[in-house]
Amino acid sequence: MARVDDCLFCKIVAKEIPATVVRETDTTLAFRDINPQAPTHVLVIPKAHHPTAAALADEDPGLAADVLCEARNVAADEGIEDAGYRVVFNTGPGAGQTVFHVHAHVLGGRDLRWPPG
Ligand code: 5GP
Repeated sequence: MARVDDCLFCKIVAKEIPATVVRETDTTLAFRDINPQAPTHVLVIPKAHHPTAAALADEDPGLAADVLCEARNVAADEGIEDAGYRVVFNTGPGAGQTVFHVHAHVLGGRDLRWPPG
């Protein structure tokens, strides 16, 4: 699905809502989370609208790979590769997903505990 009109992240892709963009490719956008949970907290999204990671995997696995590669590239740019970082796809309301345009959270720059809350 190319775009959903009432989707917050589709509006960020269209530059209708501002965001601090750190990386952009033909198919993906990476921007800083407005409410960061770690020194590095970047969201990587496909420009095309897919609601969840599961839907993206079903509908366009090549694009899912683009998102994962960009998560790696964000970590490299941010200098958190060696220390370690976390890539999270909250999937569904019970897991805390609030924006239904799939996004990878790239978190790092501090010690990350397990299990997550
Ligand atoms: P979720 O809870 O769906 O896994 O993650 C949504 C994320 O989007 C949250 O971490 C939240 O802080 C972030 N977010 C919500 N609205 C905006 C916004 O307008 N701009 C940016 N940059 N991030 C947002």
